[in-house]
Amino acid sequence: MPALNATQPPFGLMQDWPLTVDRVLEHARVNHGHREIVSRSVEGPIVRETYADLYARARQVSTALLEDNVQPGDRIATLAWNGARHMELWFGAMGIGAVLHTVNPRLFPEQIAWIINDAGDTHLFFDLTFLPIVEQLAEKCPAVRRWVLMTDEAHAPPAGKIPNLAIYESFIAGKSRDVTWGNFDERTAAGLCYTSGTTGNPKGVLYSHRSNVLHSLTSLQRDSLGFSVDDVIMPIVPLFHANAWGITFSAPAVGAKLVMPGSKMDGPSIYELMDAEKVTFSAAVPTVWLMLKQYLEETGKKLPHLDRIVVAGSAVPEAILRSYEDDYGVKVFHAWGMTEMSPLGSMGATTPEFREQGKDAVQRNKLKQGRPSFGVEMKIVDDNGNELPRDGKTTGHLVVRGPAIAGAYFKNAGGNILDKDGYFDTGDVAHICPLGYMQITDRAKDVIKSGGEWISSIDIENIAVGHPAVANAAAIGLAHPKWDERPLLVIELKPGQSASREDILGFLTGKIAKWWMPDDVAFVEKIPLGATGKLNKLQLRQTFRGYTWPEQAVAAR
Ligand code: ADP
Repeated sequence: MPALNATQPPFGLMQDWPLTVDRVLEHARVNHGHREIVSRSVEGPIVRETYADLYARARQVSTALLEDNVQPGDRIATLAWNGARHMELWFGAMGIGAVLHTVNPRLFPEQIAWIINDAGDTHLFFDLTFLPIVEQLAEKCPAVRRWVLMTDEAHAPPAGKIPNLAIYESFIAGKSRDVTWGNFDERTAAGLCYTSGTTGNPKGVLYSHRSNVLHSLTSLQRDSLGFSVDDVIMPIVPLFHANAWGITFSAPAVGAKLVMPGSKMDGPSIYELMDAEKVTFSAAVPTVWLMLKQYLEETGKKLPHLDRIVVAGSAVPEAILRSYEDDYGVKVFHAWGMTEMSPLGSMGATTPEFREQGKDAVQRNKLKQGRPSFGVEMKIVDDNGNELPRDGKTTGHLVVRGPAIAGAYFKNAGGNILDKDGYFDTGDVAHICPLGYMQITDRAKDVIKSGGEWISSIDIENIAVGHPAVANAAAIGLAHPKWDERPLLVIELKPGQSASREDILGFLTGKIAKWWMPDDVAFVEKIPLGATGKLNKLQLRQTFRGYTWPEQAVAAR
């Protein structure tokens, strides 16, 4: 082949257009400049800003950071709800090559301090809600040289315990918008998010500009999030939880209107904003959908504008899926992913094979975690890394590969995390059917192993929460004299409801294999949840360690 390009043979002759996230917002400004981001501000009022405004203010953030001596690669942390100011920080920091580090405010202050210090954050921007936490953090995080309260002077507190405190609106006021964005390698670090680390210390996942852009393109496929300019999107999933599933990039990429719920995450507030702004799409973990469903049932309200929702973070219970689809006419998509995957891995779009079998088959199939979009490779392997068949029965370790999947943790925590073929072990246990639908049966660390066989705690929990008196359920494996481990089902009842052990076990009978039947049921006031709203099974296992099984349960097996 003749030389095509002076630099290296044999390259194609297309333009070099680095995949950096500033181009997403540039696109939104030029093509969708008037579309809105509507935020419920922490101060109270609903605030409206356009993509053009967001672009302008994000550039002021960039200048303010540069004038405060922020260098490429510096980590800029946020403790903030979903709102336009938070997005200004994302693009303002990433645009100049700094790393936007979203910190989960639901963690304990000691964990937050540990994460901020591990990340080496130089700046921390926080919402008014978190002032009390930041007052505790300030002396524990000496490397943070600027604390910025995300409000205006009118809402600023009297001078307090926080050194080097700035007020956001004054910090960016009058700053130049004439700043250079991008212009660096697309592999440059853009964002940092720590996994909640139910075992050991949290680990940082360091996203690049390229991975963020490719993840957005992947998620915009119609069988994934499939956004359109016609959508009004409410990310209830927080920006601090794995990039709000990438919505901060994918929504501006298509010019969809954004509606940000701020700090008010209760049923009435979410409903009110959804209804007023005519939200068509929303994304959240199952507990949020459960809460909204309870509110709808109490008030008799409907969801006339909402077209589809994505449920992910933990498995969608059948009762939620059927209720939203059948009672409220909302299409439910079940997704699976993890912080390390930017985070989307699979989505439960329906293939023609299931559509032909009718609604019941479609809905049952939607309980699976779905199929990967282009951009994610997945397979299941045995303990030795050998690929297992896609027969819908054989379970194994779920491993993944792709351009928006972590290749290592921040500061190389945990060492090498890829196998010889470059696959990352998700820590989930799953099977994959011949049509490509993956179903998670457990997290490897939560697996219940009875007599050498795995019992799916997720299946048991999902059926149990279908019982009308049950608010939440967790199945955990506890030591058993004969079978190594047997399942204990821990139940949190809805307020004012009652149910007995026999009621619950009777409800499960016929819905799960006999040998999966929990050996006992324990009722608790509240099932503990982790910082991302998931069942905290580690804590439950500790609470119930040394549990004495009922006599008949031991005898019967
Ligand atoms: P963390 O591990 O920090 O809680 P992630 O949000 O990254 O945070 O959690 C990823 C894990 O959440 C997955 O590995 C999986 O175990 C679980 N998960 C996510 N979505 C689903 C789902 N739809 N069904 C079952 N489990 C899920």
